[in-house]
Amino acid sequence: FLQVEKLEMWFGKQQVLKNVDLSVEQGKLVTLLGPSGCGKSTLLRLISGLETANGGNLYLDGKDISKQSAQNRDISMVFQSYALFPNMTVYDNISYGLRVQKLDKKTIHQKVMTMLSLIHLEEKSAAFPSDLSGGQQQRVSLARALIVEPKVLLLDEPLSALDAQIRKELQLELRTLQQELGMTMIFVTHDQEEAMLISDTIHVMHDGEIVQSGTPEELYSYPKNDFVASFIGHYN
Ligand code: ATP
Ligand code: MG
Repeated sequence: FLQVEKLEMWFGKQQVLKNVDLSVEQGKLVTLLGPSGCGKSTLLRLISGLETANGGNLYLDGKDISKQSAQNRDISMVFQSYALFPNMTVYDNISYGLRVQKLDKKTIHQKVMTMLSLIHLEEKSAAFPSDLSGGQQQRVSLARALIVEPKVLLLDEPLSALDAQIRKELQLELRTLQQELGMTMIFVTHDQEEAMLISDTIHVMHDGEIVQSGTPEELYSYPKNDFVASFIGHYN
């Protein structure tokens, strides 16, 4: 469905992605797991089109998207910091992408209401971001990305700024939402527990490379080397 082939990225003399191959099936949640600086965000930015790779290919649904602009890729991204529009209500934040698409008011209203109920924030429709907790703000930013029904949703450590309790709740909510909607997601984290809990497949990254890919159980039971083992927390 999404196919990443031999992706390479350099920043000056530093090679931050080396021959990265990744394939993501439709409707799956795939996680990139690895330590700070291993290239996770860079890989997401290349997939989203925010940056251009120095080599390699990107295919979505069989179509080469490497030359397409970020707006034309049908891929949305959610960041660690919520990046909501502070001067817009929750309703207006969520409906933003639909207004850009110039849908009619009634359709927009229906879609936003459905979204608000999915993220359990029906009562906060008229609130401003500053009136919301961190977890609520992150729910709104998730809704804002989901409402345009992208083919793929990229999430760059979306929960890491939240405290442990809220974070656990949102991990489960996110996974439920993803399965209900059949949405394809690539989720970035450096938290192995989080990765184990929500993923269909985990790709462990180290120094710009994917060192091992598999289901949470496979990685846990058969880590390929000490690095993976230390990350997944199990030694043979
Ligand atoms: P973190 O978990 O800390 O977010 P990451 O895995 O997302 O880390 P990246 O942000 O992809 O890591 O960065 C990978 C490497 O590329 C790092 O060494 C970083 O310093 C470097 N890098 C990232 N963006 C740039 C840039 N715009 N210019 C130069 N170097 C960069
Ligand atoms: Mg990052």
